[in-house]
Amino acid sequence: MDVSIALFTSDLRLRDHPVLTRALRAARKVVPLFVVDSQVSAAGFAVPNRAAFLADCLADLDEALRERGGRLVVRRGDAVEETCRVAAETGAGEVHVAGGVSGFALRREERLRTALAADGRGLRVHDAVVTAVPPGAVLPTGRDHYAVFTPYFRRWSAEAPRPVIAAPRAVPVPPEVRSEPLPEAASLARGEPSPALPEGGERAGRRRLTAWLRTGLAGYADRHDDLPGDATSRLSPYLHFGCLSPVELVTRARQTAGAGAEAFVRQLAWRDFHHQLLAARPDAARRDYRPRHDRWRQDTEELAAWREGRTGYPVVDAAMRQLAHEGWMHNRARLLSASFLTKTLYLDWRAGARHFLDLLVDGDVANNQLNWQWVAGTGSDTRPNRVLSPLAQAKRFDPTGEYVRRWVPELAELRAPSIHHPWRLRPAERARYAYPEPIVDLDDALARFRRARGID
Ligand code: FAD
Repeated sequence: MDVSIALFTSDLRLRDHPVLTRALRAARKVVPLFVVDSQVSAAGFAVPNRAAFLADCLADLDEALRERGGRLVVRRGDAVEETCRVAAETGAGEVHVAGGVSGFALRREERLRTALAADGRGLRVHDAVVTAVPPGAVLPTGRDHYAVFTPYFRRWSAEAPRPVIAAPRAVPVPPEVRSEPLPEAASLARGEPSPALPEGGERAGRRRLTAWLRTGLAGYADRHDDLPGDATSRLSPYLHFGCLSPVELVTRARQTAGAGAEAFVRQLAWRDFHHQLLAARPDAARRDYRPRHDRWRQDTEELAAWREGRTGYPVVDAAMRQLAHEGWMHNRARLLSASFLTKTLYLDWRAGARHFLDLLVDGDVANNQLNWQWVAGTGSDTRPNRVLSPLAQAKRFDPTGEYVRRWVPELAELRAPSIHHPWRLRPAERARYAYPEPIVDLDDALARFRRARGID
């Protein structure tokens, strides 16, 4: 075959990339193609933070391809139509793509297969690109996916990952194939990105990975919940955009002995777990996976206070302000702020998930929607009615109040434990802080939630 197409989607890297490797093996020349898909923006998924990161990723990928004699070919429009157009222009016999998991990716794959077949061309879908273990590779008897993490993790851990693949040395691209200019962030989404976003791209991801393996991984088991310590990898955006390969991460972490590496690999298994669940139940992106017959409250003012970090609960507000500033939030902060919205305020998880997707640079349908459902108790948590008290969480995971001081400067003069409950200060002292009163009483909120869920 003379030409094949490697269609890049959520896999913006050259190392450990079965799609590009196989496309190169299948033909003398390859078109490394990225389509700025009009349907992504139509679905509301193109937001400034991810657009800025994506623009970095594409520029970085193009540069890495140019170092190998190639370049990235960019098109705009419907991904299926544009890919077929490039195939017709170049006479490509096959399109290679990573297997996706969301309803959107699965529909795109099906449409692409049909459209290519109509022209006598083939679609090759490659597994273990977006996840370490592909959805469906491990299954419980008689079911199409795992609904509970622990048994999934046991089976997942027993799977041998495929070998890690080196980056290609040369990528010969047909010279005549037309490309649009690399997109600027502003052309991908409207609005201003958060002020402190990480830099996107495979190179930035690899720098962070190298530093993480050298200095962070060993302490991960003990420190991953430490809110001010910020001792997690922050690799999630690079995993979301595929700048780093999950197969490589699992393989390299497993080469390191110790509790830190084990705990980190377990988190990567959570990522695969949510992906296999979404692949089997695409509607879990919107509908309750396990309905609890909730009749969520509607309160636009409380929702706005939560979004803007002015609930009067300092640790919740710190979490929400970190999200706005960095486009990222610590996992413990995600857990407690999501529990506050769904269980303390008893507002619909979909409203919270939407806000997270609007801002998270790692915003991911599988991980976001299913973690939200996990916290709301409509997902895969085996203890669906647990409620995280913001006070208990703050005292345990931010014992000195440093995390709150960092993100809620109005309270910076206060020390722990007062910083976590300023409403308990004497009135004269309380008046010195321009910080809101709690929007809800925790005992009343707990009683309301228990009534709603029918718990005696
Ligand atoms: P680390 O602790 O270093 O973990 C390493 C990697 O493991 C992460 O990069 C991530 O890919 C994966 N991982 C860790 N925890 C989880 C988890 N609970 N579920 C799935 N994968 C996990 N993660 C996203 O990538 N995108 C999202 O949109 C997202 N939304 C979330 C929403 C809520 C309400 C909650 C509770 C969690 C969400 N998570 C999401 C999971 C988790 O919070 C982030 O992956 C993590 O905080 C990213 O930081 P890190 O890279 O430093 O993680």
